[in-house]
Amino acid sequence: MWFRRSRRASDTARPATPGVFPAEWRPKLTYRWPTIGTLDTTEREHLEQLTLTFLGRFRFEAAQGFEITDEMKVLVAAQASLLLLELDDPTLDLYSRLTSIILHPRTVVLRGSHRVGDHLQSDGAQTLAGQAHHRGPVVLAWSTVAFEARHPDRGHNVVMHEFAHQLDMIDGTIDGTPPIADAATRERWVEVCTRAFRAVRRGDESVLRGYAATDPGEFFAVATETFFTRPAALRESDPELYDVLRSFYRQDPAGRSSATLPRGG
Ligand SMILES: [Zn+2]
Repeated sequence: MWFRRSRRASDTARPATPGVFPAEWRPKLTYRWPTIGTLDTTEREHLEQLTLTFLGRFRFEAAQGFEITDEMKVLVAAQASLLLLELDDPTLDLYSRLTSIILHPRTVVLRGSHRVGDHLQSDGAQTLAGQAHHRGPVVLAWSTVAFEARHPDRGHNVVMHEFAHQLDMIDGTIDGTPPIADAATRERWVEVCTRAFRAVRRGDESVLRGYAATDPGEFFAVATETFFTRPAALRESDPELYDVLRSFYRQDPAGRSSATLPRGG
């Protein structure tokens, strides 16, 4: 195993009053994750409740020598919860296969012939920023989580990526198709995603980063990242793909105001 796990599992972050999102968390979360500023009041309140539920339900573990703060947990929980915002899942059962979230301070540099499986991110085939396991933990590098949350315009989000895999795993396989009950909707999903996946495989210009071409599971995870971080760009470049994601997540992030997002920085 490429990381050493601490035996000391950290406690879940608990607000002083159960069910009440602590007011002091709001400015910190907004600073760390400006995307939350695009939600309207109803959406934001709902997201805060899901975040509290997430924190109460799922355990965080620190890689050895790392201290996890409430701020870190809240940032992970809020971003993971955004995927479920409109999926009518108040107890986050869609993530019920998750056993824990393991936070590592930085990306792990792999040398030699380690089998890395999922998730070689950004700089070549050497650093691992996140990993999802079937009926196991989600592993995240805090430095990547923090940077990507602060800079949504870059179009990467390892938290959303890993939790998209959680949704994909519900039916037992990571094949790029999360559970979609309606047959016609599912058929359309497969048709649109297959077309878009083939385009990235061909190397066609795309708003999706190249990692999407790995396989259909990675395609869905990367498309999810792009849908929530650069929704307007995705809608513009591939309206059909945007539309099936909008239909699945029941959210229209491109329609939200982006006026509150900071520029540059
Ligand atoms: Zn992945």
